[in-house]
Amino acid sequence: MAEKTLQTVLNRLYAADVPEKADIEYTLSIKDAAQTAELFAFADEIRQRHVGDGILLRGIVEFSNRCDNSCKYCGLNKTNVNLKRYKLTDRQILNCVEQVANAGIGTVVLQSGEQADLDSDWLAGIIREIKTRFDIAVTLSVGEKYCQDYALWKEAGADRYLLKIETTNRQLYQNLHPQMALDNRLRCSKDLKTLGYQNGSGNIIGLPDQTIGDIADDILFFARERFDMIGIGPFIPHPATALSDCPPSDVEMVLKTIAVTRIITKDSHLPATTAIGSVNGNDYRPDALMAGANVLMPNFTPLPYRQLYEIYPGKRCSTEAPGTCGPCIDMMANAIGRTIDLSRGDSLKKKRKECA
Ligand code: SAH
Repeated sequence: MAEKTLQTVLNRLYAADVPEKADIEYTLSIKDAAQTAELFAFADEIRQRHVGDGILLRGIVEFSNRCDNSCKYCGLNKTNVNLKRYKLTDRQILNCVEQVANAGIGTVVLQSGEQADLDSDWLAGIIREIKTRFDIAVTLSVGEKYCQDYALWKEAGADRYLLKIETTNRQLYQNLHPQMALDNRLRCSKDLKTLGYQNGSGNIIGLPDQTIGDIADDILFFARERFDMIGIGPFIPHPATALSDCPPSDVEMVLKTIAVTRIITKDSHLPATTAIGSVNGNDYRPDALMAGANVLMPNFTPLPYRQLYEIYPGKRCSTEAPGTCGPCIDMMANAIGRTIDLSRGDSLKKKRKECA
């Protein structure tokens, strides 16, 4: 039987068209510090080879915290009646986008809670206005919608869409998302791909009852669907949710998941998420950037509202004025020998011809 050293497993994960779930589980299970360092170094080398040293920036504008869903982990869930709800005006949104563009950043992400009655024509108008006024890629992250809505926004000029699967474990998904269905989320993701969006997914690590096998299945899903971007972040318990007493995610497991996802997906864009910059008051984004990540998402939501977009507590940079991230981000890149890349950062995936 072939010897199972970490190096042979890592080489196999990198070379495989369809990686073995057992190899992913083996790698996620390592605990030894030297082996973990070996994994991160390997992922960092693959990152360097496939996406280079530039850290891409995506300016995020959280334009509304209104939400009709009741995701059990999220502070925006509709049962949190004490949260003051907001929606930015058109003018406020366009001002934020202008700040992103003025900072030289090539992508704006428009994110919100999920409202069934979000006016699709209104959002299409905002997208059109942005595309007329600024030379910037637009990423939407407004949840599960009908295919017609996604098509309308694509026609209006949207380039990318971020809809994390959160977990591929059907039972866990159902427990965490009452009134929602994994199949509808999968349908949305498929529609987005068919419509030609650069397609983003991702998951939450450390959810109650989530196993290493579940995380391995998530990674296999990311690989199979060839996502252009994948956001992997830690679970952080929010006091106003049903999961308030659950322990936060083990940061090392998040970093290992990023590393394995990099090794397998090779050229997907992987953000060092704001959540990984916010665990227990610590900023692990540099660690994520050294374990396979290549994207940062500075926040451009205006200050009084930013604190109200509290999906989890202790969210990094909720008191700094928008647009002041530049020096901090430059310092982070310098400290780890990397550079900031202000380009649009489009997908690096070669489009495969889909067979009928
Ligand atoms: N309504 C949009 C955006 C949701 S907020 C949508 O449905 O896609 C963006 C992300 O925050 C979610 O996808 C989820 O992964 C993350 N999130 C929410 N609550 C969290 C928590 N308590 N801990 C960690 N991540 C959380």
